[in-house]
Amino acid sequence: AKADGRGTYRFFETGMDARAQARRLLEMDLRAALQRNEFQPYYQPIRDVVSDRVVAFEALLRWNHPQRGLIAPINFIPLAEETGLIVQLGELVLRRACADAATWPDDVGVAVNLSPVQFKNPNLIASVTEALEKSGLAARRLELEITESVLLQNSEATLTTLHELRAMGVRISLDDFGTGYSSLSYLRSFPFDKIKIDRSFVSELATREDSVAIIRAVTGLGRSLGIVTTAEGVENDAQLELLRREGCTQAQGYLFSKPRPASEVAMMLDRPRLR
Ligand code: C2E
Ligand code: CA
Ligand code: CA
Ligand code: CA
Repeated sequence: AKADGRGTYRFFETGMDARAQARRLLEMDLRAALQRNEFQPYYQPIRDVVSDRVVAFEALLRWNHPQRGLIAPINFIPLAEETGLIVQLGELVLRRACADAATWPDDVGVAVNLSPVQFKNPNLIASVTEALEKSGLAARRLELEITESVLLQNSEATLTTLHELRAMGVRISLDDFGTGYSSLSYLRSFPFDKIKIDRSFVSELATREDSVAIIRAVTGLGRSLGIVTTAEGVENDAQLELLRREGCTQAQGYLFSKPRPASEVAMMLDRPRLR
């Protein structure tokens, strides 16, 4: 398409160019960082709402950049997905998470996030198998978190992969529940072990009546389907109390602890509140 005025067109082009260049730089940086081993999973505890016991830790990836410091996933995962680098990154997280979890108490699991892009890779099953074998971690202690966007793409192949993972003994969680378009139909297409209620519903509990109604509906659904429900982003006691009252199974959030490096897992197991 032609531009209306020459100036506008050139301005637009320059903008695109700068963005494309920034993207190329970040991509080069990402590749180098993989070589230099600058990625590391942080861990956030997931607690049983009734017993208050830590049942698992979720692995949340951090980029420890020599100049820029600790970089959050929102700043590099999208590009890693676009460039396919997420496959290598994902394998790294799986290996590290399983190896770390193998040193924790037997009744504490580890949850790893999987990108939809990893499901397009034919090696996914092999890399999960390898991570379990090399670490010696029992498959039942590994939870894989997927969002419903995974089920949107090529769902036949994806469902087959999910069933294979489950046959290995790995648990599958549906992440960010309630944020997509047709979450309910996904619960029928695959027997998830866990539903993670998106943080947005939890954070609005105090201010929005309908958020309470949604939490009630989801925990009720979980109970009748025999699926564990985990609330994300629990930041205060009032939210935890309400979740407990509504029969939510597990809770995760800053109320207990922010994500911390593997070296601090023992401390998180010892202390129920760490802010
Ligand atoms: P997610 O899987 O929904 O993870 C939960 C996010 O909420 C994390 O952000 C966590 O640090 C944050 N969070 C936890 N508790 C609270 C709380 O009480 N309040 C608030 N405001 N936030 C809380 P984080 O670590 O920045 O990760 C963002 C997203 O990046 C994750 O969302 C996940 O989608 C993605 N991600 C992280 N690690 C990986 C990974 O290893 N692989 C893939 N594919 N994606 C990852
Ligand atoms: Ca997650
Ligand atoms: Ca989530
Ligand atoms: Ca999320």
